[in-house]
Amino acid sequence: MKSRTLVTMGLGLLLLLAGCQRAAVDPAKHQTSEPPRLGSSYELYVATDLHYLNPALHDNGQAFQDYVKNGDSKLLPYSDELLNAWVRQVIEAKPAAVILSGDLTNNGEKASHEELAKKLAAITDAGIRVFVIPGNHDISNPWARSFQDDRQLKTDYISPEDFTSIYGAYGYKQASEQAPDSLSYLAKVSDQLWLLMLDSNRYANNLKYGYPETGGELSEATLTWMKTQGEAAKKAGARVVAVMHHNLFDHSDFRSEDFTASNADKIRKVLKEADIHLALSGHIHIQDIRSEENVTDIATSAMAVYPHQFGILQYTASPATVDYRTESVNVESWARSVSSRDPNLLGFQAYSRGFFHQNSYDKALHSLESSGYSEAERKSMASVMADLNPFYFGGMTDRIDTGALDAKGIELWKNDDTSFLGTYILSMMQNAKDNTRVHVPLTSGE
Ligand code: FE
Ligand code: MN
Repeated sequence: MKSRTLVTMGLGLLLLLAGCQRAAVDPAKHQTSEPPRLGSSYELYVATDLHYLNPALHDNGQAFQDYVKNGDSKLLPYSDELLNAWVRQVIEAKPAAVILSGDLTNNGEKASHEELAKKLAAITDAGIRVFVIPGNHDISNPWARSFQDDRQLKTDYISPEDFTSIYGAYGYKQASEQAPDSLSYLAKVSDQLWLLMLDSNRYANNLKYGYPETGGELSEATLTWMKTQGEAAKKAGARVVAVMHHNLFDHSDFRSEDFTASNADKIRKVLKEADIHLALSGHIHIQDIRSEENVTDIATSAMAVYPHQFGILQYTASPATVDYRTESVNVESWARSVSSRDPNLLGFQAYSRGFFHQNSYDKALHSLESSGYSEAERKSMASVMADLNPFYFGGMTDRIDTGALDAKGIELWKNDDTSFLGTYILSMMQNAKDNTRVHVPLTSGE
C-alpha cells in the first residue's frame, strides 16, 4: 500500500514536470467537511451542458444572432433567465445536493464561469451542496468570445487552477480525496453515498491547437486512483455513483466518436471491479440511457437545449437504489415571480419548442439544398425532421405520433434511407423508447 502511494506520488510529480496541467490545491487549505446526516431517502439533482453565457458578453447584435442561428440549438439569448429559473426551482425543491457534469459555460469564458459561480452561491446559501466537474468547453478554451455589433471578440478563458478556485465552494473544497493528475475528486453526499466526480477532458493542448478538444478519457493515474477510492468505499460500506462529462457507452448510432470516452471499456472494467453500477454523463446533448452488464450510463440532455431538462435522482438506502427521472426547467413560473413582461418567457414552453423546431427545420432544409428534390418536397422532408428532433433530443421517441407527421415527407425519407439524414430519421421513428426514467440498483444484489 505504502509503495503504491509512493509510485502514485512519483507519477504525479513526473506529470507535473512534464507540464501537465495539474490543479494546484493546497492541502493545508483543503477543508474536508463531514458529510451531513441524511435520511434513508433523498433527492439529488443533476444538470449538464448548461453552456451558460454571461449576458454581459453580448449585445444581442448581428454577430450574436448569427452565432446563435448557426449554432447547435442552444438557447443562448435566454441563458441567464434559464439559469435563474433553474436556481429558483432547485432552492424550492431543496434536494440533498446538486451535480453539474460539465460544459458549464458556452465556450469557457471567464466572465461566464464567474457569474455562474455567483448564482450557485444562492443554492449553497440555501443549505444545498453543489458538486461540479468541467466539460470539454470549460477550461483553456481558445474559442471564448464576446459579441459586439457585427464582431466576435476574444475574451478571457480560464486555466485548470482558475477552475478549482472559482468552483472551490462547489466541490473542490469539500472533496474528501483528489486525483493526482486531473480535476477528479471524491465527494461524500452522506456516509452511505459517495460521488466519484471524474474529469475526462483533454485540455492540455487546446491553446496550441487553437480549439477545444472534443474527445476525452480517464488517464491511467486517475483510473488507479479510482480503484483506491472504490476499495475505500467497499470498506466503509458506501455506495458510489460515478459522474463524468464524456459517455460510458455509445448513446447514438450516428455519432458516438468523441462523445464516448476513448477508453470507456477500461473505465467500465474499473467500475465493475469497484462494484459501481451507475454513471451520470452529458456531452452528447441528447437524453439517453444505456445499460450493459449491471452498469448504467445516464446521459442527461443539455440544459441549454430544448426541452431544457435536468435529472432528479431519488435515492433510497436499503436496498440501495436510484430512481431517475427528468423534469424541464420551469421558466414560466420564474418569469411570473419576477413580473417579467417578455411573452417568450411567460410562454416559454411554446417559445423554446418553436426555437428548436425552427433551428432543426432550417438545418434540414439547408442540407437538402442540392439534393435534387423539388422545393415542396424539401419542405415536407424538413418538416418531418423538425417534428421528430424534439422527441429524439428529449429522449421521448416513444411519444412520437407518426400520424401527425407530414406523410409525403415520410415517404420521401423512406426512399432516401441510404443518406445520413434518411437513416437518422428512420431510426428515430423505429427506436421508440422512454429514456427519461430508469430504476437502477446500486448493489449487485448480494
Ligand atoms: Fe456540451
Ligand atoms: Mn461537451
